[in-house]
Amino acid sequence: MTEYAEVIVDLSSEQVDRLFTYRVPEGMRLTPGQRVEVPFRTKSLEGFVIDIRDKTELDEKVIRPVLRVLEDYPAVLPELIELAQWMKKRYHCNLVDGLRQMIPAQMRGGRVREKTVDMAALLVKGEALEAAMAANARAPKRQEVLRLLAEGPKPVPFLNSVAPGAAKKLAEMGLIGITESGVRRTPYAALEGGLAPDPELMPAQKAAVERIGAALENGGGRFLLHGVTGSGKTEVYIRVIRQALASGRGAIILVPEISLTPQMVDWFRRRFGGDAAVLHSRLSAGERFDEWRRIRSGEAKVVIGARSAVFAPLERIGVVIVDEEHESSYISDKRPRYDAREVARWRADRHGAALILGSATPSIATYMRAMPGVKPVNRLELIEMNERVKGRALPEVQVVDMRDELVRGNKSIFSAALMSAMQETLDAGRQAILFINRRGYSTFVSCRACGYVERCNQCDVSMTYHQADGMLHCHYCGDMRLPPKLCPQCGSRFIKYFGTGTQKVEEEVRSLFPQAKTLRMDVDTTGAKDAHETILSAFRRGEAQVLVGTQMIAKGLDFPNVTLVGVVAADLSLHVPDYRSVERTFQLITQVAGRAGRAEYPGKVILQTYDPEHYGIELAAKQDYRAFYFKEVTMRRRGLYPPFTVLARLLVSSKSEETARAAALDLEARFNELLDSRPDWRRDVVQMRALEAPLKTLRGEARWQVFIKMYARPSADEVISQMEALERLEFEGARVELEVNPNAML
Ligand SMILES: [Zn+2]
Ligand SMILES: [Zn+2]
Repeated sequence: MTEYAEVIVDLSSEQVDRLFTYRVPEGMRLTPGQRVEVPFRTKSLEGFVIDIRDKTELDEKVIRPVLRVLEDYPAVLPELIELAQWMKKRYHCNLVDGLRQMIPAQMRGGRVREKTVDMAALLVKGEALEAAMAANARAPKRQEVLRLLAEGPKPVPFLNSVAPGAAKKLAEMGLIGITESGVRRTPYAALEGGLAPDPELMPAQKAAVERIGAALENGGGRFLLHGVTGSGKTEVYIRVIRQALASGRGAIILVPEISLTPQMVDWFRRRFGGDAAVLHSRLSAGERFDEWRRIRSGEAKVVIGARSAVFAPLERIGVVIVDEEHESSYISDKRPRYDAREVARWRADRHGAALILGSATPSIATYMRAMPGVKPVNRLELIEMNERVKGRALPEVQVVDMRDELVRGNKSIFSAALMSAMQETLDAGRQAILFINRRGYSTFVSCRACGYVERCNQCDVSMTYHQADGMLHCHYCGDMRLPPKLCPQCGSRFIKYFGTGTQKVEEEVRSLFPQAKTLRMDVDTTGAKDAHETILSAFRRGEAQVLVGTQMIAKGLDFPNVTLVGVVAADLSLHVPDYRSVERTFQLITQVAGRAGRAEYPGKVILQTYDPEHYGIELAAKQDYRAFYFKEVTMRRRGLYPPFTVLARLLVSSKSEETARAAALDLEARFNELLDSRPDWRRDVVQMRALEAPLKTLRGEARWQVFIKMYARPSADEVISQMEALERLEFEGARVELEVNPNAML
């Protein structure tokens, strides 16, 4: 009986976003999820088999056959085909955009495959082997190879290192056989010292494990694990994962990419050994493929990775964990623009697994779902862990009003309090972290006589002075130039450098505490491969006493000897024009403060600010998440900001300001027509208009936007679909991109 394969071709285009029917040739066996090569128009394409049928309504004669099977197993599990179908609806993408997430990118186009090695084995033994040895008496190298193979099969490359060409010759003589065999590229060296033992749990940890564990056994559940910094959330994850493994199920744990340090990876492997597979961006394509294969084959059941690991091909899942759930990196900024937390929830539901969203500073939208009055379909069960492990105290936070410092004549970037705390810390042989969320030396260069500010020629931003190379840098496009000696506008010599970045803080530390060694961690020092880890491990080993850094140092790091954290300018991120700026500031301060006093010595945090009465600063200093949440929710409700509304925009970029403006106005007009035809949509729209983007030019392109704010009601999804259609309109000389609740709307 003839079979037909329904195939999605691997081409991301709306025109081909449907099933194409192919005949399965005689003798070929196919199942849904397998990848195939099929003829398409005049060429051949890779594709995903979605369904197999035994009949078709199409004319037999026009149906072409499948050309080739790419892998002998289904690369995409049936569940993940369904997930791709759900993503198509939820994120308005093509089905193939979803399917592509399910396999390592390099598998497409056959750019990576199983690594193989030629293995040689003897084909003769006993007397025949002795005869062969005798026959090769004049070829000692060949004899040597035969002797080695008498111990067992050996890889050909190894034999070639002993006697080049001998194996090939022996194979030609029919004495040995050579076969290809799969090997794995292991990204990590073998573990030394074996698996680590489980530490004893605190009562709050034990209670959390029991509650989640019960859900895991009883069809699933969704949890928000809100634990203060240092409360031991990771240990809770580990115990729940163990329980999943004990019942024959696997686990996925998502962490922000930046937390996937070799130290973290090693630590997970110490607890789970070969059961753990790690997916992160530093793996080579081959290593990534091999880890994926270990998961797909069922060999590795615990998957730890960044955002895309949520698509790991596990067949039975007991728990899905999203650590540091407030991180914006869980939302993909490329098509398909998925939210890994939503995908995690879909998979957990599908498997009857437990879902854990964990954080010390949950996002406002997530915490809201753990509050009373939420519909059951969205509800999260709140589990709180309010104490640090081993009874360690949360660090003491001292807020310093920098305005008072100025009054007292202190013009330094360090307050008197921070200076003396630094001195004490260094005297005691401990370490300090200084946090400032801005890189470079001075953040802008300006003329004191006329107010001229050096700006990038390509972007609508001021340039930052970097002392390391003595140049002005644009942090948006990377453009560089020498700082002016005279003001280009009025010719004055009074060019001054304002603002503080990581480089200046580092320099200040060096001049004030010359005996201390410092390390700096920001985008400029972490460009090289592994630089990130090199700096962190040097600091952990105590090779420096002070670490200066941007938000890179705020995340999940654990340095036992750090007793002081200085937040040099707490209000820097407060005045970013974004509705989440207060939430981000609160999260950053709380997270960075959490780096202090994680071992036996108590920690201290000094928070320097010009705005000590601001609720974001005040409540971060108290580390009072709940109070912050209620205050912030009130502000959002009043200002009609998410999660009460949905923000989206169509961003138009063009070399010509006029073209960008015209395209934006055209889009606005079409949008208005659309809303006129649907009064129910119009009612739910708070605001919709075309205007210049806050960042007017970027990389030499003018930017306009059609901005929309809607109530978070079902209609919002329909309106977004319409915006997708508008995004696909073509404008001569302009590009249109849709952004929905983007991480920043610049
Ligand atoms: Zn001037
Ligand atoms: Zn620029």
